[in-house]
Amino acid sequence: MASKRSAIRRAARPPAGAAVPRNQDAPSPCACGKPAIYVRRHEGRAYCRSCFCESLEAKVRKTILKHRLVEKGDRIAVGLSGGKDSSSLLFLLHRFFAKRPDISLVAISVDEGIAGYRSQTLEKAKALCRQLGVEHQIVSFRQGLGKTLDHRLRDAKDSCTYCGVGRRYLLNQAAREAKASKLAVGHNLDDEAQSVLMNFFRGDLLRAGRMGTLAADAAQGGQGFVPRIKPLRFIPERELTLYAVLKGIPYSDAECHYIRGLRPLVRDFLYDLENRYPGTRYAVVESFDKLKPALRALPRQPLRACSRCGEPSSQEVCKACELWPGKRARNRTVPARRSRDSGQVKKQQRTR
Ligand SMILES: [Zn+2]
Ligand SMILES: [Zn+2]
Repeated sequence: MASKRSAIRRAARPPAGAAVPRNQDAPSPCACGKPAIYVRRHEGRAYCRSCFCESLEAKVRKTILKHRLVEKGDRIAVGLSGGKDSSSLLFLLHRFFAKRPDISLVAISVDEGIAGYRSQTLEKAKALCRQLGVEHQIVSFRQGLGKTLDHRLRDAKDSCTYCGVGRRYLLNQAAREAKASKLAVGHNLDDEAQSVLMNFFRGDLLRAGRMGTLAADAAQGGQGFVPRIKPLRFIPERELTLYAVLKGIPYSDAECHYIRGLRPLVRDFLYDLENRYPGTRYAVVESFDKLKPALRALPRQPLRACSRCGEPSSQEVCKACELWPGKRARNRTVPARRSRDSGQVKKQQRTR
């Protein structure tokens, strides 16, 4: 019990390096009168254990309802890494929808083949699926892309690009093959704010405009793309850690040892800003959402089928085929549908 209490204290604490806000130390009670365990600084409100969990659940439910992320008859594939975000996501979706006969869940984990990291997180993913009774599929880089990440990176520099491209590719493929109508991913508020800033810093506005946010973004669907939904998009990372600890959700906090590049810099920068100006992350994501209709209106490459593997791509050859040349083609499962904005799919497939 003592170890769980200290885990809660650890989870409620600001990230390493951030100065502890003064009001966090003051034992202000929750509005219900019980002792508080967490202070949501941008709201200026303290929460007890049960009010915190209820408010997080209500926020996720509101995001799902407001943006119609889950609809009648949906089969939702959940990208499950075994970390706190995706584990909490599966737990929450199961909590909300397990009793609905018309909605089904399937968890999909990607095994990149990162020695000493992925095996730990996969064990937690398996344990959670067993606990909830959710169908679980595991797809691997070795099988789907021809090499493990460890193996591929012997001759490559930008690990996160290789990993991210490969993971997105396999998740989409597996979700489509599992006949899923949506693919839910555990991106939290911190991830979203970081991605927005990174796209700006790289001058990649077009990509930012396509940045998968919510299923309402119909442009993502079709062409073999399973629309991605992000129900945790407005929940800070720290709150998800705390929620997972409080609910006893099995998750692994192992960190990938390949992480480097722009993201950790942007992450630290945002922590620092958030600490001085609570609410910064929300402001970044909300500003981006206001800009999005304008970004969408800019001309961009229409989607087509990759000439090598048949998966959806904005280029002649998709990023996964470019970075993972040893990959097996599995194009038979790609529906040869015509996209809204181009007729290139059929043409591509005929000339192959
Ligand atoms: Zn309370
Ligand atoms: Zn391809």
